[in-house]
Amino acid sequence: MTKKNKKSEKHKVAMQKQKAKVDAGIEAASIERGVAILLTGNGKGKTSSAFGMIMRALGYGHKVGVVQFIKGQQLSGEELYLRDHCPQVEFHQMGTGFTWDTQDRDSDIAAAEKTWVWAEAMLSNDRFDLVVLDELTYMIAYQYLNEEAILSALKHRPIEQSVVVTGRGGGAALQAIMDTISEVKEVKHAFKAGVKARQGVDF
Ligand code: ATP
Ligand code: MG
Repeated sequence: MTKKNKKSEKHKVAMQKQKAKVDAGIEAASIERGVAILLTGNGKGKTSSAFGMIMRALGYGHKVGVVQFIKGQQLSGEELYLRDHCPQVEFHQMGTGFTWDTQDRDSDIAAAEKTWVWAEAMLSNDRFDLVVLDELTYMIAYQYLNEEAILSALKHRPIEQSVVVTGRGGGAALQAIMDTISEVKEVKHAFKAGVKARQGVDF
């Protein structure tokens, strides 16, 4: 056997083993229900990942709801796109700036409570296949919203509904009820090197 053939044979055996492992995993996963996903961590990619899932869901004609709990004064690209091209997506925003901009806890809480009503309605409506609650973790961290009420609404959502929560932190109680948690780690961020946030990339 030539060196090249040996390498090909070794690759084939490794792939066969891998396939058997993957097939066994697929076979073992037999539960059909929506999932609760938390995208957290200090790195870039939480909100954009959530919007990637929205695109996936829309590809299958699924009903999608989005509630954004914190936003800058600047309109985001995802917001503009959904507003102009996806009227079927129900989209709500807290509409205030970042918390360090407003510097007013009482008005932040009032805005959070108003916004939570939209989220709660989606989480109790089985017409929604996917609900994205962008930056919800800060509402728990800053104690703007009642943690138990949030956890209860997430837990008791329709069985087929998936929910994606984004934001740093969120706490142990939230993590305990989520099915999938990914932590985006900051290895580097251009901003730290003085590069301005880019339209279409960062917002
Ligand atoms: P994105 O919306 O790009 O997926 P994100 O949701 O993971 O980012 P957020 O904490 O919501 O991150 O911050 C939103 C904005 O802040 C984005 O413009 C993003 O590029 C920027 N950002 C994210 N992480 C960092 C970081 N570690 N340092 C500086 N800026 C960051
Ligand atoms: Mg984000």
